[in-house]
Amino acid sequence: MESIKVFSPGSITNLSCGYDILGVCLENRGDEIKVSKTNQKSITIKSVNGFNLTKDIYKNVSGIAAQALMKKIDIDHGFEIEINKGIKPGSGIGSSAASSAGTVFAINQLLGSPFSLIDLVKFSMEGEKFVSGSFHADNVAPIIFGGITLVRTIRELDVVSLPIPKDLEMIVIRPNIEIKTADSRKVVKKKVKIEKMTQQSANLGSFVSSLYSEDYDLMSRSVIDQVVEPDRAFLIPEFDNIQRISKNSGSIAVGISGSGPSIFSLSNNRITSNKVLESISQHYSSMDIEHDVFISKVNSGGIKIIETK
Ligand code: ADP
Repeated sequence: MESIKVFSPGSITNLSCGYDILGVCLENRGDEIKVSKTNQKSITIKSVNGFNLTKDIYKNVSGIAAQALMKKIDIDHGFEIEINKGIKPGSGIGSSAASSAGTVFAINQLLGSPFSLIDLVKFSMEGEKFVSGSFHADNVAPIIFGGITLVRTIRELDVVSLPIPKDLEMIVIRPNIEIKTADSRKVVKKKVKIEKMTQQSANLGSFVSSLYSEDYDLMSRSVIDQVVEPDRAFLIPEFDNIQRISKNSGSIAVGISGSGPSIFSLSNNRITSNKVLESISQHYSSMDIEHDVFISKVNSGGIKIIETK
């Protein structure tokens, strides 16, 4: 195989009760990444289309993740990367993660898969560290593993795959503003009261249980954030109103996707999802807020190979 093109999807993280540890892989919205073998022993980014991003391999997460991989293998050739961005950077649905994970997944395929999925998560995390200022795997893990994941620890990296309730779907609305993860992390308080820690861990535990039992009422009571969301909500236009309107239209839960500005709502049937989509989209339109809105089931497969040559 000389070249490979992959679709690397977006992801929703935190899910209110699992800050920095929960993530869900989306079906739609994603980057297309093509990687080709080259004779030179180096990494180059040939093109980036869709959004104005650097081709510098030390600043674009694709280059950073690819270099992390190259340090762990001795080969006599290199790779050229072409990136077609389908996710706006700073959108809260894992734009940088889609690029870094898609790139190392593609390179691993070209090399005959010497690296494990956990290795690929580790390489991708180098890109996440560069753009957000801290190591976290909540976006890259669900893209690489597929489905819904929980990152138990990033030290001895441990990723747990969780069950996917068959009817679960997500409505995602992204107001057309950019929030950098690094900035959104600055508003998060460094200390948490013990009462809040207790409530948050109870919510996380019962959310995981609701995935196994497909108990959507329990899910609704669990997807609540007492720690981070209250401090971040002001960054997102109309967050409280979108939350109220979604709930009134029947959504199971509503929260900030990743570090925002995207907002996710959960539903367990398409009629409700469409109702939520229409009502929140109407609200943003009435406020003249440009936005993108879509419905997605959970993507159990993660990154998908589109073409090989
Ligand atoms: P997101 O959650 O959308 O990934 P981040 O703030 O974590 O948002 O990442 C966006 C930042 O990463 C932007 O500053 C952007 O310039 C930088 N970046 C570097 N390479 C890429 C890439 N290939 N795709 C997206 N963003 C990138």
